[in-house]
Amino acid sequence: MSEIHDVAIVGSAFAGSLTAMIARRLGRSVVLVERGRHPRFAIGESSTPLANLLLEDLATRYDLPRLRPFVKHGAWRRAYPEVACGLKRGFSFYHHIPGEPFVPMADRGNELRVAASPDDELADTHWFRPDFDHFFQREAESLGATYLDETHLDRAEEMGDHMILSGTRHGKPVAVRARFVVDASGPRGFLHRALGLGEAPFAGYPETQALYSHFTGVRRWDELHPTDDRPPYPVDDAALHHVFPGGWIWVLRFGNGITSAGVSMTLAAADEIGLADGAPAWERLLARLPSVAAQFADARPVRGFTHAPRLSFRSAQSVGRRWAMLPSSAGFIDPLLSTGFPLTLLGVERIARMLEEAPVPAPVALAAHASETDGDLVAAAALIGALFGCMDRPADLHRLLMLYFAAASFSETARRLGRPELAGGFLMRTHPTFGPGCRRIIEDTTTGRLTGEALADAVRSAVAPVDVGGWCDPGRRNWYPVAFAPLFAAAERLGTSRAGIRTMLVRAGVAASAIPADL
Ligand SMILES: Cc1cc2nc3c(=O)[nH]c(=O)nc-3n(C[C@H](O)[C@H](O)[C@H](O)COP(=O)(O)OP(=O)(O)OC[C@H]3O[C@@H](n4cnc5c(N)ncnc54)[C@H](O)[C@@H]3O)c2cc1C
Repeated sequence: MSEIHDVAIVGSAFAGSLTAMIARRLGRSVVLVERGRHPRFAIGESSTPLANLLLEDLATRYDLPRLRPFVKHGAWRRAYPEVACGLKRGFSFYHHIPGEPFVPMADRGNELRVAASPDDELADTHWFRPDFDHFFQREAESLGATYLDETHLDRAEEMGDHMILSGTRHGKPVAVRARFVVDASGPRGFLHRALGLGEAPFAGYPETQALYSHFTGVRRWDELHPTDDRPPYPVDDAALHHVFPGGWIWVLRFGNGITSAGVSMTLAAADEIGLADGAPAWERLLARLPSVAAQFADARPVRGFTHAPRLSFRSAQSVGRRWAMLPSSAGFIDPLLSTGFPLTLLGVERIARMLEEAPVPAPVALAAHASETDGDLVAAAALIGALFGCMDRPADLHRLLMLYFAAASFSETARRLGRPELAGGFLMRTHPTFGPGCRRIIEDTTTGRLTGEALADAVRSAVAPVDVGGWCDPGRRNWYPVAFAPLFAAAERLGTSRAGIRTMLVRAGVAASAIPADL
């Protein structure tokens, strides 16, 4: 291609395609390069309130109305029934002792359910990536991005006022020229390899491996384990986590009969079970977890298993003079808290703002993007590392998780109120008190200095000033439905009034009649 494009984007999954749409809306010429061909399998499926809010904000700011229905389950199902998704009302955790069936405890000590939305209409979703990514790629193309699939790039060079990316397409040499390059090709992706950037491992993080596939015939957990109590939401309409010492299994149901499931394990646990063996290793794992095995008794994989020998990754460099990586290319930790989408979308937002300012972002803006990207990854690695250390101690795991849910709900609220600066960075790491407090707790838990009631007290104190969800309440016995009262009580701390909270909720789609009048 002799034309010099304003922007080349490498990788046409949802985030690369979204960046391409935004660049087109900003009037830039765009080439979007993809190694594979849509539709195709992709992993990373479960969204969160913050991810959907970021997608909504981007769709609004850059006039992409066709993306808006994707941010809520009800609107998605009505607007795009042909694009499969799953219903995600929250996060569910069940703890297993190897070799023993799961038996619910009277105090619900071996489970945790946290609702992220008040109903199915407003709920988050699991994105069926073959359909979802294909939709996003076609949108980018329809907005005028030049799309090159089945293109194998292997070199990247700076040449005067632009970059040249070269490789082959259908056996013939191809060269793409652009003034600015966005790498959306995922961990250990194009620029990381082409520029030989090297890795910067997360200090103290326990390496993990994964094994995963898509299945049919996975039974619902609530059919196997019915309860008389009224749960915050049906347990399977969520990201269902089965936790055991050394790892955890995810189960995500889509509306098309497919269920995504896989396991992430520490290297020691993965080696011990021989995770690299694929399907036989999955069978061996289920044999150790009888209640999970019952859930998968009739399940059949619809594709081969993928074994990921090392999940965590951090590129030693994520920006250059004429290029930037999305956070999803700069690094990854573990899917435990569904952090991939929100961190990636925060990066798309930063790159979009940079492109608003100039066709080639200023060095200072690029450096800020690199620093934000890395700061978020490091914060996520510290928390997830600490959580892995608690997988054989459900109560401590739940205590630490309160930090995540408190920060996520406060961040979502601050953003909905147009005050994102109140909750900067992943885990509100730039918040003047919560940020450092959280880091201390995580470090002390990781080193074993903080456990049990002392950990509970430390988390309660850290969370109290930013509590918008009624977290750390023993009276809830590990079931956290959406609660409006703590949100209203936090109005002043969020710089608004009770009326401001009510307006925010109604704008977010909550029926006015569902909000108690006396709040
Ligand atoms: C096992 C696992 C489970 C996960 N679960 C979740 C989850 O539940 N929730 C969540 O938020 N996040 C999750 N993640 C993270 C999530 O997958 C990523 O955040 C997300 O996929 C990033 O999307 P993306 O659009 O940036 O690119 P990716 O999904 O990484 O896709 C990259 C694209 O670039 C293309 N490509 C790659 N190399 C090249 C090349 N050299 N040239 C051209 N094209 C190239 C690929 O074909 C692909 O289309 C998970 C990750 C893993 C590994």
